[in-house]
Amino acid sequence: MIDYVTLLKESGLKATFQRTNILDVVEKSGHMSIEAIYDEVSKIHPSLSLATIYKNIILMVEKGVVVEVPIAGKKPKYELAKMNHIHLVCTECGDVEDKPCAEDTDKLFNELTDKENFKLNMRQVNLYGVCSSCQEAIAS
Ligand SMILES: [Zn+2]
Ligand SMILES: [Zn+2]
Repeated sequence: MIDYVTLLKESGLKATFQRTNILDVVEKSGHMSIEAIYDEVSKIHPSLSLATIYKNIILMVEKGVVVEVPIAGKKPKYELAKMNHIHLVCTECGDVEDKPCAEDTDKLFNELTDKENFKLNMRQVNLYGVCSSCQEAIAS
């Protein structure tokens, strides 16, 4: 169980009930679009508007609590900031799967950016393709 209150405070944000709820919902699902987050959070807070949720998410992205995961050709999804990992993104259903980053990959990125004298702050690797269940659905 993640302590969202501490997480938010350490990131310089007030730990409001709405924010901890958003983080809780995103954590359970892994990766969610704004609309999906809104659907879930509005079950708990029916008075919250989509715009308010959006504003809160953008703020948490700016503070590094939440990370935006761009999905080619679709709306982005959001996840909690976690250890470096690779995304397998399905272009059919938009499903995003986390894969741990191998040490080799870390080394490769560090070497590459060192060579360019580029100070690496964050990185995100998204591999796009078709997930196994969508492959089955296409085949049948
Ligand atoms: Zn799929
Ligand atoms: Zn992820």
